[in-house]
Amino acid sequence: MRLAKRTSNLFRPRGRPDHPGLDVSGLTGVIALDTAAQPGPGEPVATADVQGMCTYESLVAETLPLGLIPLVVPQLRTITLGGAITGLGIESTSFRNGFPHESVLEMEILTGAGEIVTVRPGDELFDAFPNSYGSLGYATRLRIELERVPAYVQLRHLRVGDLDELTRTLTSVAAPGTHDEKQADAIDGVAFSPDEIYLTLATWTDEPGPVSDYTGQEIYYRSLQERGTDRLTMHDYLWRWDTDWFWCSRAFGAQHPVARRLWPKRWRRSDVYHRLVGLDRRFGLLDRLDERAGRPARERVIQDVEVPVERLSEFLAWFDDVVGMRPVWLCPVVARGTSTGGRWPLYPMEPGRIWVNMGFWGTVQVGPEAPNAPMNRAIEAKVLELGGHKSLYSEAFFDEETFDRLYNGPHLAAVKERYDPDNRLTSLYDKAVRRR
Ligand SMILES: Cc1cc2nc3c(=O)[nH]c(=O)nc-3n(C[C@H](O)[C@H](O)[C@H](O)COP(=O)(O)OP(=O)(O)OC[C@H]3O[C@@H](n4cnc5c(N)ncnc54)[C@H](O)[C@@H]3O)c2cc1C
Repeated sequence: MRLAKRTSNLFRPRGRPDHPGLDVSGLTGVIALDTAAQPGPGEPVATADVQGMCTYESLVAETLPLGLIPLVVPQLRTITLGGAITGLGIESTSFRNGFPHESVLEMEILTGAGEIVTVRPGDELFDAFPNSYGSLGYATRLRIELERVPAYVQLRHLRVGDLDELTRTLTSVAAPGTHDEKQADAIDGVAFSPDEIYLTLATWTDEPGPVSDYTGQEIYYRSLQERGTDRLTMHDYLWRWDTDWFWCSRAFGAQHPVARRLWPKRWRRSDVYHRLVGLDRRFGLLDRLDERAGRPARERVIQDVEVPVERLSEFLAWFDDVVGMRPVWLCPVVARGTSTGGRWPLYPMEPGRIWVNMGFWGTVQVGPEAPNAPMNRAIEAKVLELGGHKSLYSEAFFDEETFDRLYNGPHLAAVKERYDPDNRLTSLYDKAVRRR
Protein backbone atom coordinates (compact mmCIF):
# COMPACT_ATOMS: atom_id res chain seq x y z
CA MET A 1 0.00 0.00 0.00
CA ARG A 2 1.24 3.51 -0.78
CA LEU A 3 -0.13 7.00 -1.10
CA ALA A 4 -1.09 8.46 -4.46
CA LYS A 5 -0.33 12.16 -3.91
CA ARG A 6 0.27 15.02 -6.31
CA THR A 7 3.18 16.48 -4.34
CA SER A 8 5.96 15.11 -2.17
CA ASN A 9 8.91 16.50 -0.27
CA LEU A 10 10.72 13.22 0.04
CA PHE A 11 14.13 13.04 -1.47
CA ARG A 12 14.91 9.39 -1.66
CA PRO A 13 14.68 7.68 -5.02
CA ARG A 14 11.99 5.03 -4.98
CA GLY A 15 11.06 2.22 -7.32
CA ARG A 16 8.21 3.11 -9.68
CA PRO A 17 5.00 1.55 -8.36
CA ASP A 18 3.36 -1.16 -10.45
CA HIS A 19 -0.05 -0.62 -8.84
CA PRO A 20 -2.25 2.41 -8.17
CA GLY A 21 -1.73 4.09 -4.81
CA LEU A 22 -4.33 4.95 -2.21
CA ASP A 23 -6.38 7.86 -3.55
CA VAL A 24 -6.17 10.54 -0.85
CA SER A 25 -7.34 13.46 -2.99
CA GLY A 26 -10.38 13.87 -0.73
CA LEU A 27 -8.24 14.35 2.37
CA THR A 28 -6.70 17.74 1.69
CA GLY A 29 -9.01 20.15 3.49
CA VAL A 30 -9.37 22.14 6.68
CA ILE A 31 -12.35 20.78 8.62
CA ALA A 32 -12.81 23.37 11.39
CA LEU A 33 -11.09 26.13 13.34
CA ASP A 34 -11.97 26.60 16.98
CA THR A 35 -10.95 29.75 18.84
CA ALA A 36 -11.31 29.61 22.60
CA ALA A 37 -13.04 32.73 23.95
CA GLN A 38 -10.97 32.67 27.13
CA PRO A 39 -8.46 29.86 27.27
CA GLY A 40 -7.55 28.60 30.73
CA PRO A 41 -3.90 28.38 31.82
CA GLY A 42 -1.99 25.96 29.57
CA GLU A 43 -4.93 25.67 27.16
CA PRO A 44 -4.46 26.50 23.46
CA VAL A 45 -5.83 29.83 22.22
CA ALA A 46 -7.19 28.03 19.20
CA THR A 47 -7.15 24.64 17.48
CA ALA A 48 -7.54 23.42 13.91
CA ASP A 49 -9.01 20.15 12.73
CA VAL A 50 -7.49 19.26 9.39
CA GLN A 51 -7.41 16.30 7.06
CA GLY A 52 -4.18 14.31 6.86
CA MET A 53 -3.02 15.49 3.43
CA CYS A 54 -3.89 19.16 3.97
CA THR A 55 -0.85 21.27 3.06
CA TYR A 56 0.43 23.94 5.43
CA GLU A 57 -0.18 26.40 2.59
CA SER A 58 -3.91 25.58 2.59
CA LEU A 59 -4.11 25.64 6.37
CA VAL A 60 -2.27 28.95 6.77
CA ALA A 61 -4.51 30.49 4.07
CA GLU A 62 -7.43 29.85 6.44
CA THR A 63 -5.81 30.69 9.77
CA LEU A 64 -3.67 33.74 8.98
CA PRO A 65 -6.61 36.05 8.15
CA LEU A 66 -7.77 35.27 11.73
CA GLY A 67 -4.31 36.12 13.15
CA LEU A 68 -3.47 32.48 13.88
CA ILE A 69 -0.85 29.99 12.69
CA PRO A 70 0.25 26.46 13.65
CA LEU A 71 3.00 26.49 16.30
CA VAL A 72 5.52 25.33 13.68
CA VAL A 73 4.94 26.00 9.98
CA PRO A 74 7.43 24.01 7.86
CA GLN A 75 8.69 26.39 5.21
CA LEU A 76 7.92 24.41 2.05
CA ARG A 77 4.35 25.18 0.99
CA THR A 78 3.29 21.70 -0.03
CA ILE A 79 4.44 19.89 3.11
CA THR A 80 1.30 18.31 4.53
CA LEU A 81 0.23 17.99 8.14
CA GLY A 82 0.50 14.20 7.97
CA GLY A 83 3.92 14.36 6.25
CA ALA A 84 5.40 16.83 8.75
CA ILE A 85 4.08 14.93 11.76
CA THR A 86 5.27 11.52 10.60
CA GLY A 87 8.44 12.94 9.01
CA LEU A 88 9.57 15.51 11.61
CA GLY A 89 9.18 18.96 10.11
CA ILE A 90 11.09 21.88 11.62
CA GLU A 91 11.16 25.67 11.39
CA SER A 92 12.41 28.79 13.08
CA THR A 93 9.86 28.64 15.92
CA SER A 94 11.11 25.17 16.88
CA PHE A 95 13.43 26.51 19.58
CA ARG A 96 10.33 27.44 21.59
CA ASN A 97 7.62 25.19 20.10
CA GLY A 98 9.54 21.99 19.32
CA PHE A 99 8.53 19.82 16.36
CA PRO A 100 5.14 19.92 14.56
CA HIS A 101 4.08 16.62 16.18
CA GLU A 102 4.54 18.19 19.64
CA SER A 103 1.48 20.41 19.20
CA VAL A 104 -0.85 17.68 17.94
CA LEU A 105 -3.73 17.07 20.34
CA GLU A 106 -5.44 14.18 18.58
CA MET A 107 -5.16 12.12 15.41
CA GLU A 108 -7.21 9.65 13.45
CA ILE A 109 -5.01 7.06 11.80
CA LEU A 110 -5.88 4.54 9.12
CA THR A 111 -3.79 1.57 10.22
CA GLY A 112 -2.34 -1.23 8.15
CA ALA A 113 -5.07 -3.44 9.58
CA GLY A 114 -7.62 -1.24 7.77
CA GLU A 115 -9.10 0.32 10.90
CA ILE A 116 -9.40 4.01 11.72
CA VAL A 117 -8.31 4.63 15.29
CA THR A 118 -8.35 7.87 17.30
CA VAL A 119 -5.17 8.43 19.28
CA ARG A 120 -3.98 11.07 21.76
CA PRO A 121 -0.66 11.95 23.40
CA GLY A 122 0.48 9.06 25.56
CA ASP A 123 -1.17 6.39 23.38
CA GLU A 124 1.30 3.88 22.02
CA LEU A 125 0.45 4.54 18.36
CA PHE A 126 0.43 8.34 18.82
CA ASP A 127 3.88 8.34 20.42
CA ALA A 128 5.37 5.97 17.83
CA PHE A 129 3.95 7.95 14.88
CA PRO A 130 6.67 10.66 14.58
CA ASN A 131 9.44 9.27 12.35
CA SER A 132 7.36 6.28 11.22
CA TYR A 133 6.89 7.68 7.67
CA GLY A 134 3.64 5.89 6.99
CA SER A 135 4.96 2.50 8.11
CA LEU A 136 2.36 2.27 10.91
CA GLY A 137 -0.58 3.95 9.17
CA TYR A 138 -1.73 7.20 7.61
CA ALA A 139 -3.08 10.17 9.55
CA THR A 140 -6.47 11.07 8.07
CA ARG A 141 -7.45 13.79 10.58
CA LEU A 142 -5.40 15.82 13.04
CA ARG A 143 -6.30 18.35 15.70
CA ILE A 144 -3.47 20.78 16.30
CA GLU A 145 -2.77 23.77 18.47
CA LEU A 146 -2.56 27.27 16.93
CA GLU A 147 -0.95 30.45 18.23
CA ARG A 148 -1.82 34.10 17.80
CA VAL A 149 0.40 36.20 15.55
CA PRO A 150 0.41 39.82 14.41
CA ALA A 151 0.67 40.95 10.79
CA TYR A 152 4.40 41.68 10.51
CA VAL A 153 7.82 40.32 11.37
CA GLN A 154 10.87 42.39 12.24
CA LEU A 155 14.15 40.67 11.31
CA ARG A 156 17.67 41.16 12.63
CA HIS A 157 20.42 39.41 10.68
CA LEU A 158 23.32 39.10 13.15
CA ARG A 159 26.68 38.33 11.61
CA VAL A 160 28.70 36.13 13.95
CA GLY A 161 32.47 36.18 13.67
CA ASP A 162 33.33 32.49 13.86
CA LEU A 163 32.00 29.07 14.80
CA ASP A 164 32.64 29.51 18.51
CA GLU A 165 30.73 32.77 18.56
CA LEU A 166 27.92 31.03 16.68
CA THR A 167 27.63 28.43 19.43
CA ARG A 168 27.72 31.07 22.17
CA THR A 169 25.11 33.27 20.48
CA LEU A 170 22.78 30.39 19.68
CA THR A 171 23.06 29.07 23.20
CA SER A 172 22.12 32.42 24.67
CA VAL A 173 19.27 33.33 22.30
CA ALA A 174 17.70 29.87 21.97
CA ALA A 175 17.96 28.76 25.59
CA PRO A 176 14.58 27.56 26.88
CA GLY A 177 12.83 30.42 28.64
CA THR A 178 14.75 33.32 27.13
CA HIS A 179 12.07 33.95 24.52
CA ASP A 180 9.89 35.22 27.32
CA GLU A 181 12.25 38.16 27.52
CA LYS A 182 11.25 38.89 23.93
CA GLN A 183 14.66 38.34 22.40
CA ALA A 184 13.08 36.60 19.43
CA ASP A 185 9.95 34.74 18.42
CA ALA A 186 11.77 32.77 15.74
CA ILE A 187 15.42 31.98 15.02
CA ASP A 188 17.24 30.44 12.10
CA GLY A 189 20.51 31.09 10.32
CA VAL A 190 22.72 30.47 7.33
CA ALA A 191 26.42 29.55 7.29
CA PHE A 192 27.74 30.79 3.95
CA SER A 193 31.22 29.70 5.06
CA PRO A 194 32.81 28.99 8.46
CA ASP A 195 33.60 32.69 8.84
CA GLU A 196 30.49 34.15 7.27
CA ILE A 197 27.49 33.13 9.33
CA TYR A 198 24.23 34.98 9.97
CA LEU A 199 21.65 34.30 12.63
CA THR A 200 18.25 35.78 11.91
CA LEU A 201 16.24 36.76 14.97
CA ALA A 202 12.61 37.38 14.08
CA THR A 203 10.23 39.34 16.28
CA TRP A 204 6.49 39.34 15.66
CA THR A 205 5.08 42.90 15.51
CA ASP A 206 1.88 44.77 14.73
CA GLU A 207 3.68 47.98 13.92
CA PRO A 208 2.78 48.99 10.35
CA GLY A 209 5.48 50.13 7.93
CA PRO A 210 7.23 49.26 4.68
CA VAL A 211 8.05 45.61 4.00
CA SER A 212 10.41 43.82 1.63
CA ASP A 213 9.26 41.48 -1.13
CA TYR A 214 11.38 38.46 -2.06
CA THR A 215 8.92 36.90 -4.47
CA GLY A 216 10.06 39.20 -7.29
CA GLN A 217 13.59 40.06 -8.45
CA GLU A 218 15.13 40.14 -4.95
CA ILE A 219 16.28 36.89 -3.37
CA TYR A 220 15.79 36.30 0.35
CA TYR A 221 18.95 34.39 1.26
CA ARG A 222 21.14 37.00 -0.39
CA SER A 223 19.47 39.73 1.68
CA LEU A 224 21.04 38.21 4.80
CA GLN A 225 24.45 39.31 3.52
CA GLU A 226 23.25 42.70 2.38
CA ARG A 227 21.22 44.17 5.24
CA GLY A 228 21.29 44.07 9.02
CA THR A 229 17.55 44.48 9.53
CA ASP A 230 14.45 43.84 7.49
CA ARG A 231 10.67 43.61 7.70
CA LEU A 232 8.26 41.18 6.10
CA THR A 233 4.57 40.47 6.31
CA MET A 234 3.88 37.37 8.41
CA HIS A 235 2.72 35.62 5.23
CA ASP A 236 5.94 36.35 3.38
CA TYR A 237 8.03 35.40 6.43
CA LEU A 238 6.38 31.97 6.61
CA TRP A 239 7.10 31.26 2.94
CA ARG A 240 10.43 33.16 2.68
CA TRP A 241 12.35 29.97 1.91
CA ASP A 242 9.84 28.44 -0.48
CA THR A 243 10.20 30.94 -3.35
CA ASP A 244 13.77 29.85 -4.06
CA TRP A 245 13.66 26.48 -2.25
CA PHE A 246 16.17 28.02 0.17
CA TRP A 247 18.92 28.66 -2.45
CA CYS A 248 18.37 25.54 -4.58
CA SER A 249 16.56 27.44 -7.38
CA ARG A 250 20.07 28.60 -8.41
CA ALA A 251 20.66 25.18 -10.00
CA PHE A 252 17.84 25.87 -12.49
CA GLY A 253 19.07 29.34 -13.41
CA ALA A 254 16.07 30.92 -11.64
CA GLN A 255 18.30 33.41 -9.80
CA HIS A 256 19.85 34.89 -12.94
CA PRO A 257 18.27 38.36 -13.33
CA VAL A 258 17.13 37.74 -16.92
CA ALA A 259 15.85 34.21 -16.35
CA ARG A 260 14.14 35.39 -13.17
CA ARG A 261 12.26 38.06 -15.02
CA LEU A 262 11.05 35.49 -17.54
CA TRP A 263 10.32 32.77 -14.95
CA PRO A 264 6.55 33.05 -14.20
CA LYS A 265 5.98 34.11 -10.61
CA ARG A 266 3.57 31.25 -9.97
CA TRP A 267 6.40 28.84 -10.81
CA ARG A 268 8.78 30.28 -8.19
CA ARG A 269 7.82 27.58 -5.72
CA SER A 270 9.57 24.60 -4.14
CA ASP A 271 7.15 22.05 -5.62
CA VAL A 272 7.96 23.25 -9.15
CA TYR A 273 11.71 22.86 -8.52
CA HIS A 274 11.06 19.48 -6.89
CA ARG A 275 9.35 18.32 -10.07
CA LEU A 276 12.29 19.57 -12.16
CA VAL A 277 14.66 17.52 -9.99
CA GLY A 278 12.39 14.51 -10.55
CA LEU A 279 12.67 14.98 -14.33
CA ASP A 280 16.44 15.31 -14.10
CA ARG A 281 16.68 12.09 -12.11
CA ARG A 282 14.44 10.28 -14.54
CA PHE A 283 16.38 11.28 -17.62
CA GLY A 284 19.86 11.72 -16.07
CA LEU A 285 20.26 15.15 -17.71
CA LEU A 286 22.87 16.63 -15.36
CA ASP A 287 24.86 13.39 -15.32
CA ARG A 288 24.98 13.37 -19.09
CA LEU A 289 26.07 17.00 -19.26
CA ASP A 290 28.84 16.28 -16.73
CA GLU A 291 29.99 13.26 -18.69
CA ARG A 292 30.07 15.19 -21.95
CA ALA A 293 32.05 18.04 -20.34
CA GLY A 294 34.51 15.54 -18.80
CA ARG A 295 33.56 16.58 -15.23
CA PRO A 296 33.77 14.05 -12.38
CA ALA A 297 30.52 12.32 -11.40
CA ARG A 298 28.43 14.01 -8.72
CA GLU A 299 26.97 12.64 -5.53
CA ARG A 300 23.69 14.12 -4.32
CA VAL A 301 23.97 15.25 -0.73
CA ILE A 302 20.50 16.23 0.45
CA GLN A 303 20.23 15.86 4.18
CA ASP A 304 19.00 17.37 7.44
CA VAL A 305 20.81 16.38 10.62
CA GLU A 306 20.76 17.56 14.24
CA VAL A 307 23.60 17.77 16.72
CA PRO A 308 23.63 19.17 20.27
CA VAL A 309 24.58 22.87 20.16
CA GLU A 310 27.91 22.13 21.93
CA ARG A 311 28.98 19.96 18.97
CA LEU A 312 27.79 22.38 16.27
CA SER A 313 31.10 24.09 15.54
CA GLU A 314 32.88 20.73 15.33
CA PHE A 315 30.36 19.43 12.81
CA LEU A 316 30.36 22.57 10.67
CA ALA A 317 34.18 22.77 10.54
CA TRP A 318 34.36 19.08 9.58
CA PHE A 319 31.56 19.48 7.02
CA ASP A 320 33.19 22.43 5.30
CA ASP A 321 36.53 20.67 5.21
CA VAL A 322 35.37 17.26 3.99
CA VAL A 323 32.12 17.85 2.08
CA GLY A 324 32.66 21.51 1.22
CA MET A 325 29.05 22.27 0.29
CA ARG A 326 27.84 25.81 1.01
CA PRO A 327 25.62 27.34 2.33
CA VAL A 328 24.20 25.38 5.27
CA TRP A 329 20.83 26.20 6.88
CA LEU A 330 20.81 26.32 10.70
CA CYS A 331 17.77 25.97 12.91
CA PRO A 332 17.80 25.53 16.68
CA VAL A 333 15.23 23.13 18.10
CA VAL A 334 14.31 22.25 21.66
CA ALA A 335 12.10 19.16 21.72
CA ARG A 336 9.18 19.34 24.17
CA GLY A 337 9.06 15.57 24.59
CA THR A 338 6.10 13.22 24.98
CA SER A 339 3.13 13.90 27.26
CA THR A 340 5.23 12.61 30.16
CA GLY A 341 8.25 14.69 29.11
CA GLY A 342 10.11 11.67 27.76
CA ARG A 343 11.85 11.06 24.43
CA TRP A 344 9.78 10.20 21.36
CA PRO A 345 10.35 6.47 20.88
CA LEU A 346 11.41 6.49 17.19
CA TYR A 347 13.46 9.72 17.26
CA PRO A 348 14.87 9.77 20.77
CA MET A 349 16.24 13.32 21.03
CA GLU A 350 16.67 14.54 24.55
CA PRO A 351 13.88 17.07 25.37
CA GLY A 352 14.70 20.45 26.88
CA ARG A 353 18.19 20.56 25.36
CA ILE A 354 19.26 22.87 22.49
CA TRP A 355 19.90 20.94 19.28
CA VAL A 356 20.74 22.53 15.97
CA ASN A 357 19.27 21.24 12.74
CA MET A 358 21.51 21.68 9.71
CA GLY A 359 20.13 21.40 6.19
CA PHE A 360 22.37 21.04 3.14
CA TRP A 361 21.02 20.32 -0.28
CA GLY A 362 23.19 20.00 -3.37
CA THR A 363 25.78 17.89 -5.13
CA VAL A 364 29.48 17.20 -4.64
CA GLN A 365 31.82 16.06 -7.39
CA VAL A 366 33.34 12.78 -6.24
CA GLY A 367 34.70 11.18 -9.41
CA PRO A 368 34.02 7.79 -10.98
CA GLU A 369 36.30 5.77 -8.67
CA ALA A 370 34.52 6.86 -5.50
CA PRO A 371 32.73 4.10 -3.58
CA ASN A 372 28.94 4.28 -3.36
CA ALA A 373 27.80 7.56 -1.74
CA PRO A 374 31.03 8.39 0.14
CA MET A 375 29.90 11.81 1.38
CA ASN A 376 26.49 10.68 2.59
CA ARG A 377 28.09 7.80 4.47
CA ALA A 378 30.75 10.06 5.98
CA ILE A 379 28.03 12.45 7.20
CA GLU A 380 26.12 9.59 8.82
CA ALA A 381 29.28 8.47 10.63
CA LYS A 382 30.12 12.00 11.80
CA VAL A 383 26.60 12.65 13.08
CA LEU A 384 26.73 9.43 15.09
CA GLU A 385 30.17 10.30 16.47
CA LEU A 386 28.80 13.63 17.72
CA GLY A 387 25.72 12.08 19.35
CA GLY A 388 23.37 13.55 16.73
CA HIS A 389 20.38 12.38 14.71
CA LYS A 390 19.64 12.18 11.03
CA SER A 391 16.24 12.75 9.39
CA LEU A 392 14.96 10.05 7.08
CA TYR A 393 13.25 12.08 4.34
CA SER A 394 16.27 11.56 2.13
CA GLU A 395 18.70 8.76 1.36
CA ALA A 396 20.09 6.69 4.24
CA PHE A 397 22.79 4.04 4.19
CA PHE A 398 22.85 2.57 7.72
CA ASP A 399 23.05 -1.20 8.12
CA GLU A 400 19.94 -2.69 9.67
CA GLU A 401 21.45 -3.24 13.10
CA THR A 402 22.65 0.38 13.41
CA PHE A 403 19.34 1.65 12.03
CA ASP A 404 17.36 -0.35 14.59
CA ARG A 405 19.57 0.97 17.38
CA LEU A 406 19.20 4.60 16.27
CA TYR A 407 15.49 4.60 15.52
CA ASN A 408 14.32 2.06 18.11
CA GLY A 409 13.58 -0.80 15.70
CA PRO A 410 12.32 -3.21 18.39
CA HIS A 411 9.69 -0.74 19.61
CA LEU A 412 8.56 0.06 16.07
CA ALA A 413 8.28 -3.68 15.32
CA ALA A 414 6.13 -4.23 18.41
CA VAL A 415 3.74 -1.37 17.53
CA LYS A 416 3.63 -2.48 13.90
CA GLU A 417 2.74 -6.02 14.94
CA ARG A 418 -0.29 -4.60 16.70
CA TYR A 419 -1.53 -2.14 14.06
CA ASP A 420 -0.29 -3.75 10.85
CA PRO A 421 -0.14 -7.46 11.65
CA ASP A 422 -0.14 -8.54 8.00
CA ASN A 423 2.63 -6.12 7.02
CA ARG A 424 0.57 -4.34 4.38
CA LEU A 425 2.59 -1.19 4.91
CA THR A 426 6.23 -1.03 3.85
CA SER A 427 8.60 -1.15 6.82
CA LEU A 428 10.61 1.92 7.82
CA TYR A 429 13.96 0.31 6.98
CA ASP A 430 12.66 -0.81 3.57
CA LYS A 431 11.46 2.73 2.87
CA ALA A 432 14.38 4.69 4.22
CA VAL A 433 17.33 2.51 3.19
CA ARG A 434 16.11 -0.04 0.63
CA ARG A 435 14.25 2.70 -1.26
CA ARG A 436 10.95 0.87 -1.50
C1 LIG B 1 15.28 19.80 0.13
C2 LIG B 1 14.40 19.51 1.31
C3 LIG B 1 14.41 20.37 2.37
C4 LIG B 1 13.59 20.14 3.45
N1 LIG B 1 13.59 21.05 4.42
C5 LIG B 1 12.71 20.95 5.37
C6 LIG B 1 12.61 21.98 6.32
O1 LIG B 1 13.38 22.92 6.29
N2 LIG B 1 11.65 21.90 7.25
C7 LIG B 1 10.81 20.84 7.29
O2 LIG B 1 9.92 20.84 8.12
N3 LIG B 1 10.94 19.82 6.47
C8 LIG B 1 11.84 19.85 5.50
N4 LIG B 1 11.93 18.84 4.61
C9 LIG B 1 11.32 17.53 4.91
C10 LIG B 1 9.83 17.36 4.88
O3 LIG B 1 9.21 17.99 5.97
C11 LIG B 1 9.52 15.88 5.02
O4 LIG B 1 10.06 15.20 3.90
C12 LIG B 1 8.03 15.59 5.13
O5 LIG B 1 7.84 14.25 5.52
C13 LIG B 1 7.37 15.82 3.80
O6 LIG B 1 5.99 15.78 3.93
P1 LIG B 1 4.98 15.69 2.68
O7 LIG B 1 3.72 16.12 3.25
O8 LIG B 1 5.49 16.39 1.49
O9 LIG B 1 4.88 14.12 2.47
P2 LIG B 1 5.39 13.14 1.36
O10 LIG B 1 6.68 13.62 0.81
O11 LIG B 1 4.30 12.87 0.43
O12 LIG B 1 5.60 11.85 2.25
C14 LIG B 1 6.62 11.79 3.21
C15 LIG B 1 6.51 10.51 3.99
O13 LIG B 1 5.47 10.65 4.91
C16 LIG B 1 4.48 9.65 4.72
N5 LIG B 1 3.20 10.34 4.83
C17 LIG B 1 2.71 11.34 4.06
N6 LIG B 1 1.48 11.70 4.50
C18 LIG B 1 1.21 10.94 5.58
C19 LIG B 1 0.14 10.85 6.48
N7 LIG B 1 -0.96 11.60 6.35
N8 LIG B 1 0.22 9.95 7.49
C20 LIG B 1 1.29 9.15 7.64
N9 LIG B 1 2.35 9.19 6.82
C21 LIG B 1 2.31 10.07 5.80
C22 LIG B 1 4.69 9.08 3.33
O14 LIG B 1 4.33 7.73 3.30
C23 LIG B 1 6.20 9.25 3.18
O15 LIG B 1 6.90 8.18 3.74
C24 LIG B 1 12.75 19.00 3.52
C25 LIG B 1 12.74 18.11 2.45
C26 LIG B 1 13.55 18.38 1.36
C27 LIG B 1 13.52 17.42 0.21
